[in-house]
Amino acid sequence: MEPAFQLPSVDRLLNDEALRPYADLYGRARLRDAVREYLAAIRTRETATAPPAYEEIVFGIQEVAERWRHSSLKAVVNLTGTVLHTNLGRAVLPESALRAILRVGEMPCNLEYDLDDGRRGERDDHVDELVCSLTGAEAAAVVNNNAAGVVLALNTLAIRREVVISRGELVEIGGSFRMPEIKARSGARLREVGTTNRTYVRDYEDAITQRTALLMKVHTSNYSIRGFTCSVSEADLAALARKRGIPLVTDLGSGSLLDLRRWGLPGEPTVRAIVEAGADLVLFSGDKLLGGPQCGILAGNADLVRKLARNPLKRALRLDKLRLAALRSVLELYLDPDRLAAKLPTLRMLTRSLDSIEADARAVCAAFAGVLSPKTYEVSVIDCQSQVGSGAFATETLPSHGVRIAPRRGRANDRTILRLHAALRGMPTPLIGRIENHSLVLDCRSLHDAHAVVAQIEGADLAHSVDA
Ligand SMILES: *Cc1c(COP(=O)(O)O)cnc(C)c1O
Repeated sequence: MEPAFQLPSVDRLLNDEALRPYADLYGRARLRDAVREYLAAIRTRETATAPPAYEEIVFGIQEVAERWRHSSLKAVVNLTGTVLHTNLGRAVLPESALRAILRVGEMPCNLEYDLDDGRRGERDDHVDELVCSLTGAEAAAVVNNNAAGVVLALNTLAIRREVVISRGELVEIGGSFRMPEIKARSGARLREVGTTNRTYVRDYEDAITQRTALLMKVHTSNYSIRGFTCSVSEADLAALARKRGIPLVTDLGSGSLLDLRRWGLPGEPTVRAIVEAGADLVLFSGDKLLGGPQCGILAGNADLVRKLARNPLKRALRLDKLRLAALRSVLELYLDPDRLAAKLPTLRMLTRSLDSIEADARAVCAAFAGVLSPKTYEVSVIDCQSQVGSGAFATETLPSHGVRIAPRRGRANDRTILRLHAALRGMPTPLIGRIENHSLVLDCRSLHDAHAVVAQIEGADLAHSVDA
């Protein structure tokens, strides 16, 4: 139904003093589209019987254009207690990596250019040597992420052939992403052996035929099978693989470059240990425990890595210059293990002292106590447990401190807490916590600038948004 009123013309609005600055900033064409869309929305609003005031229309369009200013991808404060949170972008990069990104981003660089002889070079050469010296592997390649590493390895080494894998290792990682499906898409056929809880060397041995391309071991880093269990070690599988002349490929998932027990953390197999145990190719993520940019690293036997590099899929999965620069500078930090915890944010957060976490929790707690009504909320510093996340030490937690905001009985309910969490997510730098036992828990382990967070809480109008 056509409304019985006249709206201002597009041209009049485009030339309005209040809107013209947006045309300068974002282009007249984009603003014109926004104006047209806005007017069309008014026209189709069925209940409209009178035109909105001219000023109201200008203001509405202004609001639309203001939103263009804000990127949808923004920094947040991770108070979830999961240090490597996949939904929050996993590892936070060290400063040296950020500088490296800036340097190769603002100027051309020798990404695939050999400065010695002026000929074409290989992009993976920028990290290959470092990966090898940190893992003991002969050669390395890097791709978009570890899932891409699995695709590339299987598509290169096992297309239309069989991959022998234990039933206990058919992992599903976040986002309903299942390794068996990825593997099938790589063109390889999975030959599952053993049972969920027990797999023996002879299970693998019995499954090897003419069609077998490789043996695969997957580290089930996001769950553990306990009780009546048996799995085959890397070393035993490697011996079998060698005897039968087929490669052993290990998907390590998180994979660390150094033994983290050195910093009092739970032990995870290092990439070097897996290489030494005899795996021919080890795959691991760059943005999990390693603490670098999103990428997948494949390290191992030089012949196999050469085959990976020749697969046309490598081109589709390769890393760009920004992430290569960041990865290289993160790997360089590993050359100096004594200073690693001070420089690599992931390790710094994982190894923070309880005292320093508690000091942050006290500051954040005091800030909330100052702005939230004590009649509605009880705010306190609590002991809590952090997780590493991204499938590293899935079954272990790290003692931590945080702030708990609980509704007082009878005064507030779960909705109040959810509304408070929503208000914190709406802050200029959103605060992301977790809901636990009808309370909001803000684990302070991953907090890196408590002052900024305190200032933000003190300046926030929470009373308005959550009837504090
Ligand atoms: C995390 C993980 C992957 C996927 O790695 P992305 O870097 O997220 O692609 C694959 N396999 C295992 C065992 C993992 O833990």
